[in-house]
Amino acid sequence: MSHRPFAGKKLVVASHNMGKVREIRDLLNPFGVEPISAGELGLPEPVEDGLTFIANAEIKSLAAAKASGEIALSDDSGFAVEALNGDPGIYSARWAGPKKDFSFAMRTVKEKLDEKEAFASGNLKAAFFCALSLAWPDGHTETFEGRVDGLFTWPPRGTNGFGYDPVFTPNGKSVTFAEMEPADKLAINHRADAFRQLIDACFGNG
Ligand code: IMP
Repeated sequence: MSHRPFAGKKLVVASHNMGKVREIRDLLNPFGVEPISAGELGLPEPVEDGLTFIANAEIKSLAAAKASGEIALSDDSGFAVEALNGDPGIYSARWAGPKKDFSFAMRTVKEKLDEKEAFASGNLKAAFFCALSLAWPDGHTETFEGRVDGLFTWPPRGTNGFGYDPVFTPNGKSVTFAEMEPADKLAINHRADAFRQLIDACFGNG
């Protein structure tokens, strides 16, 4: 399959989430790209009414590319717990409520796992998913999905990172994402997995 290369310097990062913007800036750093966030440009946030991470990523990248006239990169991501049939999934941000309270969101996951007796049965499998979408002002998109697998961990541990990081231990590690150094998390996470695919397809060898 042929992909459209990114042949520019300027890139709008279609996100108002500073945790994501920071990780995307770090990932783009080696490619000489200057990311500007949608927040800095004052772009409106579109309604995310897609039913998949990929659909929502494309809604955001296309909205930012059309509003700014520049190539735009969006991230739609979330936390999925197997025993909850993939919830909170695309609703990961919404489970934190209007105050963006992730302690509340993490506790909600824990309470729903209690209802399913998941701690007793031992099914604590969880994953983070990330769809990255690059959109051009003419409506073309290139979109890739990455994931990282691990276990839901209770109680929450660590103060680095954001969102559900304190309750996720990636497979093969004994610490949560929130206990890891940012660079170590970035080397193995769902965003980096999607990013590798995007780089291979659209950024040559960097
Ligand atoms: P979105 O902004 O609609 O894509 O919502 C994604 C939500 O998923 C974020 O607000 C976080 O709560 C969660 N999330 C996505 N990526 C991560 C991550 O790397 N660590 C922790 N939580 C994440």
